[in-house]
Amino acid sequence: MSIRVIAIDGPAASGKSSTAALVARRLEWAHLDSGALYRAITLAALDNLGETGKGKRETWSAQQIVALAEDLPVRLVFVDDVFRPEVAGVDVAQAIRSERVTQRVSEIAAIPEVRHWVNVQQREAVQGHGRGVVVDGRDIGTVVFPDAPLKVFLTASPEERARRRLAERGRGGGSGGSGGGGANDAPELRREAEVLAARDRADSTRAVAPLKAAADAVVLDTTRLSLEQQVQAVVALARERLPG
Ligand code: C5P
Repeated sequence: MSIRVIAIDGPAASGKSSTAALVARRLEWAHLDSGALYRAITLAALDNLGETGKGKRETWSAQQIVALAEDLPVRLVFVDDVFRPEVAGVDVAQAIRSERVTQRVSEIAAIPEVRHWVNVQQREAVQGHGRGVVVDGRDIGTVVFPDAPLKVFLTASPEERARRRLAERGRGGGSGGSGGGGANDAPELRREAEVLAARDRADSTRAVAPLKAAADAVVLDTTRLSLEQQVQAVVALARERLPG
């Protein structure tokens, strides 16, 4: 029997996690946000391995980071159909969204040993779920679950993604795929688009498991789609390919 995984990959702020969460709810499947694990490890490293002042960055060895993730531990806990990240028994779902984590996560995620550790956690989590799991990230369809019966690669223009990210933070502006925009402050929008582009560059050019669409992924440009339209498109594909 093939694995019951829907892989949703794509660049930062392309709507992967919101789409994956809603698709999972509609199909009554579980949702696993793999980025949350990379973020939780980054948070754990920042809090436990030291953080230097402005301008200077502590570098940590791969062994240090993986040992820390094992010892604390960093893990995914299944609660209410969602895999929630915990560090040392504490729910870090909010804390992992902080700016200091976002700034360092791509660097930590480029370490092969860290990726191996995260992949083991993801595969274990999925094994225990007969109904199925919607997993979102950067390498889910290419590396983690290459046999997934449905792979979706979500994209959106950099401007639209920046607009969505600012709207998420309550900074106004049109989100939801109107593509037309709202009353965002233009310099702020430009800055956000640059920050996202830098992270995408780091994620796409790394040696191990770079961000890219799997050859057999369905590419969905969501620039002009609302969240509801994205969700419907993925649910329709899922019903087609994964009956029952
Ligand atoms: O999805 P999110 O933006 O929260 O992911 C944070 C970071 O984690 C990404 O920028 C990327 O560096 C890393 N990541 C990854 N592979 C995944 C998911 C996330 O490298 N499957």
